[in-house]
Amino acid sequence: MTNAIVTGSCLCGTVAFEFELPTLFAGHCHCTMCQRAHGAGFVTWIGVREDGFRITSGEPEVVHYRSSAHTTRSFCGRCGSSMFCNGDNHENVIDITVANVHGEIGREVKSHVYYDCRASWLTVNDDLRKLGGDSGTEPL
Ligand SMILES: [Zn+2]
Ligand SMILES: [Zn+2]
Repeated sequence: MTNAIVTGSCLCGTVAFEFELPTLFAGHCHCTMCQRAHGAGFVTWIGVREDGFRITSGEPEVVHYRSSAHTTRSFCGRCGSSMFCNGDNHENVIDITVANVHGEIGREVKSHVYYDCRASWLTVNDDLRKLGGDSGTEPL
């Protein structure tokens, strides 16, 4: 039996990807690096298994850069869509921005991470878990 495949792309369509369900997690990230990288109040990520993830077109256009000592981020070199994040201490997991996914991710977003870093101009009034601290995932 094969797992269901979900597809996605950047804004301009040059970079397309697919991954196998199930996703591993989903969360709204409020860290300042996500804010700056995406020009947004927060970024919603899912984690997927790297061995079930493939870039199906536009791979030469994908630009990778080191955003911290342990993290590599990737974006489309044509349109600038920020799409992937890969942590050195997250072996075999790649984070994907849900906004670039075209299908259903098979789970609900249940938490805000790095919530204590959130933008002062952002109002959040949902009942999801609010996590933070050094790891971004400790109860606040
Ligand atoms: Zn693009
Ligand atoms: Zn973040």
